[in-house]
Amino acid sequence: MKARILVVEDEEALTTLLRYNLEAQDYDVDIVTRGDEADTRLKESIPDLVVLDWMLPGLSGIELCRRLRARPETKQLPIIMLTARGEESERVRGLSTGADDYIVKPFSVPELLARVGALLRRAAPERVASVLTHGDIELDRDKRRVARAGRPIELGPTEYRLLEFFLEHPGRVFSREQLLDSVWGRDIYIDERTVDVHIGRLRKLINPDAAEDPIRTVRGAGYALDDRFQKAG
Ligand code: CA
Repeated sequence: MKARILVVEDEEALTTLLRYNLEAQDYDVDIVTRGDEADTRLKESIPDLVVLDWMLPGLSGIELCRRLRARPETKQLPIIMLTARGEESERVRGLSTGADDYIVKPFSVPELLARVGALLRRAAPERVASVLTHGDIELDRDKRRVARAGRPIELGPTEYRLLEFFLEHPGRVFSREQLLDSVWGRDIYIDERTVDVHIGRLRKLINPDAAEDPIRTVRGAGYALDDRFQKAG
């Protein structure tokens, strides 16, 4: 089942960006642009996580957060607060508003996605597997550790996220553009050749003994985690 995320944010450019990137991660996304409307919505149905802006028309994010924490049904609801630089005060830093996490704008999309994923896993560990495996490759999301045939492998953050993304979608072919969108996030302009560079690095790291390459290059299409590999592994 897809996790449902409610985004409460009044900046249209940001809601577009959040919707696009969260949907690309296979979340169901609802957007509400006013604090008071979000309050009403959350009395009707409770999502799995809320991304909540601090400054909102109708009712502030802080006040909404306080109200949600006061209701038994939403006491445990995972909340990530968005705050603009400058609004960031001791109050939000100490998370005394009741938010589980906060992110300062402008933020990087991969950072936000990582926080969303971490919070969802913490709230409902049964929903998201913490250990992903494929053949003799094992990736432990809680410990952020990767191993091949039981031997630990050190990956940089981008290579780690690339491998995690491939493991989440074994056998599916992704174009360079799709990989850029899903792994790097759409707000950053990066040349598509960057994808090749990082795939090259990941391949080198994951195949220390020139073992079987789990990543397949699909000519003219992109890259995929080789599903034949799993049967062999
Ligand atoms: Ca705002």
